[in-house]
Amino acid sequence: MTGPQPRNGIMDLPPYVGGKESLPGQEKIFKLSANENPLGASPNALEAYRMAGENLEIYPDGHSVALREALAKAHKLDVNKIVCGFGSDELLQIMATAYLQPGDEAIHTEHGFLVYKLASLATGARPVSVAETNLTADVDAILDAVNDKTKIVFLANPNNPTGTMISASEVRRLHAGLQENMLLVLDGAYAEYVLTTDYEDGFALVEETQNVVTTRTFSKIYGLAALRLGWAYCPAPIAAVINRLRGPFNVSTPAQVAGIAAIEDQAHVQASIKHNDEWRDRLFQQISGAGFEVLPSHANFLLIKFDPENGLSAAQAEQKLNERGLILRGLTAYGLPDALRLTIGTEEANQLVIEVFQEMAGNNG
Ligand SMILES: *Cc1c(COP(=O)(O)O)cnc(C)c1O
Repeated sequence: MTGPQPRNGIMDLPPYVGGKESLPGQEKIFKLSANENPLGASPNALEAYRMAGENLEIYPDGHSVALREALAKAHKLDVNKIVCGFGSDELLQIMATAYLQPGDEAIHTEHGFLVYKLASLATGARPVSVAETNLTADVDAILDAVNDKTKIVFLANPNNPTGTMISASEVRRLHAGLQENMLLVLDGAYAEYVLTTDYEDGFALVEETQNVVTTRTFSKIYGLAALRLGWAYCPAPIAAVINRLRGPFNVSTPAQVAGIAAIEDQAHVQASIKHNDEWRDRLFQQISGAGFEVLPSHANFLLIKFDPENGLSAAQAEQKLNERGLILRGLTAYGLPDALRLTIGTEEANQLVIEVFQEMAGNNG
């Protein structure tokens, strides 16, 4: 007897390996590996979270009504097309479960967010990785990979871990090349950090079409990663599907009330954007000035490439950074073994990063 067997594809899933959380022997560490907000959550969100602790015996609102209304008001959207989730990861997984089955294909870009591939594999469908150009999504290559089996195209814009993005017209060209039965998932986890005007946040596309969903998260700019809160803006028929598959109480009360307070504190959001923009520029200048290749980023992190032929490898650089208490994200799992991802941190962390890169410049050819 072999015992119960999971569906095909599930044992192909690589077990999740997270980034480092601590460094043995280091007292003070700066975790710059998970794209968390260095300014933390809004104080109002923390207060709302604490208040929710008074009534833990009560089930949450299973439809997150007040939170969805706050989102609808802030973004001028139709509240009925908003679905909240246990992190946007839950919503990405639900869309894969709902729209993929064995024999189907789901497209993601070569260095796209790993959840797309994992969520696709878990359904028994085939994840199709499409080559990027200059570490940026390539719309022509994606459209070339589309065929009758394609059911979902996942695109993070800007993408994690590259920080690159494609313009509004490119997103529209991508959508125009898909058939009506193919779902385009636009993951806007870093949308708030984008400062170029030529950006498609996806909300208008959701209104205008039947096959686009855009996802957002409270884990990044809102600084609420611990609470697990995300949301999707979807055409009504897709919202009806997600609502059938999600857990009936998938968003906890502390997450709902903290989320509402966070949305209402736009001053904190603006301060976070400003901090990110200033330090993204400075870190880019200083690290590239020290002779390292840094990718221009539209998000709250930078991708730094190393050249082991000519100087330090990413592993050696990671070691040196770790020795100074700095944790960056190694990107081997993303097919980028010669790169590290650096989250924009607090002023103190960023200054230390600059110092260590300047020291490493001496060892780099
Ligand atoms: C961080 C991140 C998310 C957010 O996931 P949550 O489950 O909401 O924490 C989604 N997509 C991308 C590309 C991310 O980097």
